[in-house]
Amino acid sequence: MSRIRLLPEILASQVAAGEVIERPASVVKELVENSIDAGARKIEVSIRRGGISLIRVVDDGCGMDRDDALLSLERHATSKIRTAADLAAIATLGFRGEALPSIASVSRFRLTTREPDAVAGTEIIVAGGKIETVRDGGEAPGTQIEVRSIFYNLPARRKFLRSENTESRNLEHQLHLQATGHPEIAFVFVRDERVAFQLPAAPSLADRIRDLHGKELVDRLLAVEERNDSTVRIRGLIGQAGVSRQTRAQQLVFVNGRAVENAVLTAALREGYHTALMKGQFPVTFLFVDLDPGAVDVNVHPAKREVRFRDPNGVREAIVGAVRRTLESGRHQWQQQFRAPAVPVAGIADPGPVTAPAPVSIEPGSTIPATTEALPSLHVQPNESLVSHWEPPPSAAATSRSQQFQIIGVLNKLYVLMENQDGLVLVDQHAAHERILFEELRRRMEEQGVPSQRLLLAQTFELAPRDAEWVERNAATLQKMGIGIEPFGQNAFKIDSLPTFLDVADPVTFMRKVIDGLKSASNGSSAMRLGEEMIAKTVCRHAVKANDPLRYLEVEKLVTDLLQCDLPYCCPHGRPTMIQISLTELEKKFGRKV
Ligand code: ADP
Ligand code: MG
Repeated sequence: MSRIRLLPEILASQVAAGEVIERPASVVKELVENSIDAGARKIEVSIRRGGISLIRVVDDGCGMDRDDALLSLERHATSKIRTAADLAAIATLGFRGEALPSIASVSRFRLTTREPDAVAGTEIIVAGGKIETVRDGGEAPGTQIEVRSIFYNLPARRKFLRSENTESRNLEHQLHLQATGHPEIAFVFVRDERVAFQLPAAPSLADRIRDLHGKELVDRLLAVEERNDSTVRIRGLIGQAGVSRQTRAQQLVFVNGRAVENAVLTAALREGYHTALMKGQFPVTFLFVDLDPGAVDVNVHPAKREVRFRDPNGVREAIVGAVRRTLESGRHQWQQQFRAPAVPVAGIADPGPVTAPAPVSIEPGSTIPATTEALPSLHVQPNESLVSHWEPPPSAAATSRSQQFQIIGVLNKLYVLMENQDGLVLVDQHAAHERILFEELRRRMEEQGVPSQRLLLAQTFELAPRDAEWVERNAATLQKMGIGIEPFGQNAFKIDSLPTFLDVADPVTFMRKVIDGLKSASNGSSAMRLGEEMIAKTVCRHAVKANDPLRYLEVEKLVTDLLQCDLPYCCPHGRPTMIQISLTELEKKFGRKV
């Protein structure tokens, strides 16, 4: 080993840059954060070739005088903190005084800045960390920073850049984050001389999200109810149950205005959504967590992407509670739609003969809840037996008036057709039944008692050794669910009771299906560590019988029970239980309205 030496300033900056500036998106992040900290009302970002050839960020913030402009390029020079106490309670996005020197050391860099009432501004040109020019300059008040040829002097780093498209996408995602975090600031994004988006300062988060992602998404979001009784304030918009994505790209959480990733937050969202999310899917959230800056450490990640909470449990509880309450209130809002139409449906009063319709293809455009996947179109063939109308019992006509829904019939022995104020509602009997059973089972388990019914004859069955081992390990959970199963010799089991509300014809076949279901749900290997929740979901799935024609009263009860569920609009696996086709949509389909 050679002697220890102090690194030259530029080299030290390049080393620091290695951590902070990974790619063009990191430059945009740091520069936009600076503009936000500078109180900008409008930020314009232009890039060329994925940001590799140029990134320009122009703001109308407070600007800098010449001394500050020169200082801003020094390492550890910041206007944002002064003392150790400041570091413990950071209220700005930046605080390390590292970004500008880091960026300037790995690019061709130009800064022009002017304070609002200054006569002249300053222009500084830097190449690879060396200041080349300092002169009067600067046009409008504010700051403009140009970063060209990123990593031009660090070929090793340059090699790690991805394609222009990928870099551009990363960069745009970063801008989306900043724009979502600060709806009050106008953003313009110009990519390769074309305006990619232009976001006016928005009066609310919902407006900003609409401008970014469209009205359709906003319509499926619920406003988080704010509460003032806690040290953690949660606000924002989150997807209603059933709205989900395959990636985390729209699972945004801002802690004191900063977009962060944090395991506590992710787990809390998951817990809050509980059964409203399908396995492997991610919720859509634009959640803002505000707490005392002293209660969160933002100085834990070079790119300030992560945070650490002083009281992770408090944060978790606040988020879980907020998400649950929001989803719950979403359910109430949504139940309102189930008011019966003003005029009773003719089909109920007078079922009459069902005439075969001409072939129709209905493509439901909007759904409750709308899922990410497009819904398959529904092809109704001319088939008289398909839509079964049936005469409700005499009392039903009277009771239906007080109900919130009006049943029309059942399609293909599976879909319940209902009319509500908005139009047509289709309920997937199967999914609905699963949801009802699941909530029932979960509630009973929480109350420590699933009523079970003894079978007339206890039955024994044998399992493959692996499956047998699984059942043995999970016997306690199964017992808790009211499934009376116990070992009965080598790889054999005896089942002597089942929960009363599961209407299972053949207990042994049922158990085998449940075990198979669980095996596939867990990819086999981790089958030993399945949670109660997963077991309950699987039990319910297999307890539901396919295409079982129901009588009117049963359908009515199914719908009533469904509406009383915590999360009625999706099954425990996250598939929708119902779809709404509004009258407006029907009018459009029939060309009555454009
Ligand atoms: P930090 O943001 O951590 O303080 P930076 O290296 O990003 O460190 O910036 C250094 C300083 O330069 C900031 O503290 C701020 O005073 C000043 N500065 C940077 N960008 C701007 C800007 N767009 N407008 C006004 N001042 C800026
Ligand atoms: Mg900064």
